[in-house]
Amino acid sequence: MSSPSSIREATRRSAYIRPEITIGGEWRAADSGKTISVDDPFTGETIGEIADAGAAETEAAVAAASEAFAPWAARPAIERGRLLRRWFDVIVANKEDLARLITLESGKAIREARGEVDYGAAFVEFYAEEASRANGEIIPAHVPGRQLRAEREPVGVCAAITPWNFPIAMLTRKVAPALAAGCTMVAKPAQQTPFSALALARLAQEVGIPGGVFNIVTGQAAAIGGVLTGSPVVRKLSFTGSTGVGARLMQACAGTIKRVSMELGGNAPLLIFDDADLETAVETAMVAKFRNAGQSCIAANRIYVQAGIHDRFVAAFAARTAALKLGDGFDETTDIGPLIEAVAVDKVNAHLENALAGGAQLLAGGKGEGRLMPPTLLAGVAHDAQLSCEETFGPLAAVMRFETFEEAIRLANDTPFGLASYVCSQDPATISRAGRAIESGMVGINTGFISTAWAPFGGVKQSGVGKEGSRLGLDEYLNVKYLCQAGL
Ligand code: ADP
Repeated sequence: MSSPSSIREATRRSAYIRPEITIGGEWRAADSGKTISVDDPFTGETIGEIADAGAAETEAAVAAASEAFAPWAARPAIERGRLLRRWFDVIVANKEDLARLITLESGKAIREARGEVDYGAAFVEFYAEEASRANGEIIPAHVPGRQLRAEREPVGVCAAITPWNFPIAMLTRKVAPALAAGCTMVAKPAQQTPFSALALARLAQEVGIPGGVFNIVTGQAAAIGGVLTGSPVVRKLSFTGSTGVGARLMQACAGTIKRVSMELGGNAPLLIFDDADLETAVETAMVAKFRNAGQSCIAANRIYVQAGIHDRFVAAFAARTAALKLGDGFDETTDIGPLIEAVAVDKVNAHLENALAGGAQLLAGGKGEGRLMPPTLLAGVAHDAQLSCEETFGPLAAVMRFETFEEAIRLANDTPFGLASYVCSQDPATISRAGRAIESGMVGINTGFISTAWAPFGGVKQSGVGKEGSRLGLDEYLNVKYLCQAGL
């Protein structure tokens, strides 16, 4: 079997690592010829270069998407669906290469990277089928001799700005419904993880998705974002990232009254009630907290445990946390890879120190160094600790004790965010009451594993607007047109 370092080297040398963007089906350098280097989070070494594109290239990409729009929208939905299906097939056929690219650029453990390719590909599969189901409605007329119709039509040229934590899945869940609906797309992947996105575009072109339908620009975020948000040709922006950047992009979209979908930050609570099954509760916490080394917007940031089960839960969770293996994402036995950047570790360390200073007890792990943050568990964390209020985005689990149902709900909702939440209990009444009382767009019940292409993903409050995945994800790329015909 190949060693992690030889797989890393082979991935670095792959044909996907090129400083090129794709506009109108062509692959080209930035106008200036300049590039930006991308680091391997584990070694800190340069993986390769990307094109350092800005406003001019983004304008060209928007023009290409605009030119491609009418013929793409005019194709029968079933044909667009068939092309998406072929794209899905080729993504699956290249699963291992794509997973390795994800690990190389994001540091993610390879087993999780493979899971991400499956998850990301599922959006393409799902929307390939959904393309031909954008049905409209005939509405009973309010006066004789009329026909009232509501038809769905594609929004137009769309833009996507995506983050580094799930570089393939966060892109496919925007591009696949957009293309299925008949929209064309200009995407800007995160600067840290551009290569897997560019690889997806190459595969799309390979199966015959026309040039101009899916364009990618890399480089200067603010300049690219400025064109994508300011252009009157772009009719919609879908963004996944931090609430701060999302708010700025939403403001920038206001000038041209764009449609927006925003998947923003979370601060997910996990509530474990006395009657929870202990093993299920621990498994839920493991998945909800440590997936992608805690770098997920639906990561359980605050784990509230009822007094009666608290000590048993903490002991079992500490043993599982301590058993997680930290290391090179290319090592098949690694559970927790490096964090994306050293500043990410600094933030987790700051949350750790702040909680310890507030009286928390350290039960596993400890301080991180460089880009490596050990899986860490704290109990007895104060409700006003930094990590109770802000998204940690790292493998630091924080347990707080509660006594009553009402207290748990009050604590869970005491945040401006509302993306995901989790509940562990075996009592149907508790599950039902908690599920309704929690202010979040998604609730995991006795599971930390909630994301799937078939279900609507999205938040409330400052966690965002709009849904991705499910049939609702297609609506984000469709306008409803009402046609009223008289004289019949
Ligand atoms: P994260 O914490 O995931 O890095 P960000 O919100 O900073 O969250 O980044 C998410 C995406 O938004 C990335 O693709 C990033 O390059 C992009 N981005 C950041 N700032 C801007 C901006 N001013 N305009 C457009 N895109 C931006």
